[in-house]
Amino acid sequence: MIKQIASLSRTREILEKYGFQFKKSLGQNFLVDLNILKKITDAAELSPEKGAIEIGPGIGSLTEQIAKAAGNVVAIEIDQRLLPILADTLSPYPHVKVEHGDVLQMDLREIINKHFAPGEKISVVANLPYYVTSAILMKLLEERLPLENIVVMIQKEVAERIAASPGSKTYGALSIYSQYYAETKMVAIVPKSVFIPQPNVDSAVLRLKIRNKPPVDVVDEALFFRVVKTSFAQRRKTIANNLLHGLFGKGERERMLSVLQEAGIDPTRRGETLSLEEFARLSNCIGK
Ligand code: SAM
Repeated sequence: MIKQIASLSRTREILEKYGFQFKKSLGQNFLVDLNILKKITDAAELSPEKGAIEIGPGIGSLTEQIAKAAGNVVAIEIDQRLLPILADTLSPYPHVKVEHGDVLQMDLREIINKHFAPGEKISVVANLPYYVTSAILMKLLEERLPLENIVVMIQKEVAERIAASPGSKTYGALSIYSQYYAETKMVAIVPKSVFIPQPNVDSAVLRLKIRNKPPVDVVDEALFFRVVKTSFAQRRKTIANNLLHGLFGKGERERMLSVLQEAGIDPTRRGETLSLEEFARLSNCIGK
C-alpha cells in the first residue's frame, strides 16, 4: 500500500525522486504530521457535497487529506516545479484540479465559477506561505467570496492577533478587521517539528467562519476601517490623541470630543479597549 504523502518517509522519497530544493522565498515548509492535517480538515467540516480551495499545495500532503473529505478540490500553486510532482502524487484523486499561479494575482471569483456549482459550500483550507499570510487573508475576506469558512495554518503570533478580544495585548486593527468579516477560533497551536524544513516561528491553526453579514451596522465601511487603523496608530496614545493626529484636522479638537461624547466613548481610553460595536458607533458618528 502506498503511504500517505504527509508521512516523513514518503515526503523524503518524493523530494528525492524529483530532486526538489525548497525555496525559502516562497514560504515552503511542508507538513509531515497526519494528526495536524486531520485537525485542519476536521475544522473545515468538509464533506463529499462540499468543495475546497487549497492555496499552496506543495507536494500535496494536505491536498490528499482534503481530497479524502471533500467532493471537489481546487489547489492553487505558484511554483511551476511542483506541477509535475502534484500530477504524480495526486493522480489517485481525479476530483482535485491544480491551478498554476500567484493567488494574489488571481481572480478567485472566476476560479470559483469555473470549478464549483452555484451555491456549493466552499472552504479555503491551507498551510499558508508565511511571507504573504495577511495579504492572502485580506484578499479572501475583502472580496466577499462565497466561502463557508477558511481554515489556515499561519504564524502563531498572527493567529493570536486575529482572534484577540478587546483589552488583550494582541488586540488591534487586524482583530477588528477579521472579526468584522468572520467568527474566529484558534483550533490548535502547532510545534515547528511538524514541518520540513522547520520554520523560525511557532504556528497555529485558525478557523474563520464567514459571517453572512457583519455583526455591526456600519454606514461607511471605508471610514470604519480608517477609524480603526487611526485608533491603533500609536498603541500607547489615547483614542482622542490618535484621532486628532490621524483623522481630524488641527483646530477640530472640540468637534472630535463632541463626536466621542455622542458615541459614548471616554476620550482617555485607548483603542485596544474598544469593541467592534464601539468602533462601529464611533465611525457612524464621525460620518454624520
Ligand atoms: N500545503 C503544503 C503542505 O502543507 O505541506 C505546502 C505548504 S507551504 C507552507 C506553502 C505553499 O504555497 C508552497 O507550496 C509554495 O510554493 C506556495 N505558494 C507560495 N506563494 C504562493 C502564492 N502567492 N500563490 C500560490 N501559492 C503560493
